[in-house]
Amino acid sequence: MTSSPAPYAPDLAPLRRLVSDACRVLAARGLADGILGHVSLRIDERSLLVRCRGPEERGLRHTVPADIRLVDLDGGPAAPGELDGGWQPPNELPLHTEVLRTRADVSAVVHAHPPAVVTADLAGLAIRPIIGAFDIPGTRLAAGGIPVYRRGVLIRNRTLAAEMTAALADRPAVLLRGHGLTSTGGSVQEAVLHAVSIDTIARLSLDVVQAGGTLTDLPEEDLAELPDLGPSFHQGTAWRHELARLSDGGATDAPAL
Ligand SMILES: [Zn+2]
Repeated sequence: MTSSPAPYAPDLAPLRRLVSDACRVLAARGLADGILGHVSLRIDERSLLVRCRGPEERGLRHTVPADIRLVDLDGGPAAPGELDGGWQPPNELPLHTEVLRTRADVSAVVHAHPPAVVTADLAGLAIRPIIGAFDIPGTRLAAGGIPVYRRGVLIRNRTLAAEMTAALADRPAVLLRGHGLTSTGGSVQEAVLHAVSIDTIARLSLDVVQAGGTLTDLPEEDLAELPDLGPSFHQGTAWRHELARLSDGGATDAPAL
């Protein structure tokens, strides 16, 4: 730190932009309507970048890098100036911090309220591997099982967050009944793409049932035949696509810091 403190830690600018982009991708995909939802990224053992609510809050679709602040595991500023100017961590920050405390393999946490995911769960439809090559990473994710945290509470303290984390166990994502989902990843991109895949399968499941069909798991032999496309395809190419969709959709481009 210099003698005249920066508004916040300046060396984190590229990561603030990444988390900010992730918020806009979630909104553009319809996973986080309005001002709800947030994304976090572990920086070290005691701090994380997280989408905070600022004095000029305009909703997730219009997140800018300046909305992404460095906080500690208890929600305080993790560097001078981080929460100055009226920024506040989300009420559900414990949801992020409890996962980061518990899961050393997780670097990023996404929390969103996708209507299709909530609807499918309330309709009794589990997220299952009903598809194949339509979305290979999504199929694999679903085949491993997506657990459900059965309480529709606002996860605003460590006790509730510990319940949710217990339901998550060692899986990449957990549905929150009557609420939304929490997804995780070794990167921001992976956590967001997990959420997008779960939303896609939820939408398809609802469509199949509405069309009079029944949901059936992909046969084991088809699942075994699906190739592992690898992280460079799934996270690199898929992420570039998500960013490209932002400009296609007319979302406000985030200004530079
Ligand atoms: Zn929530």
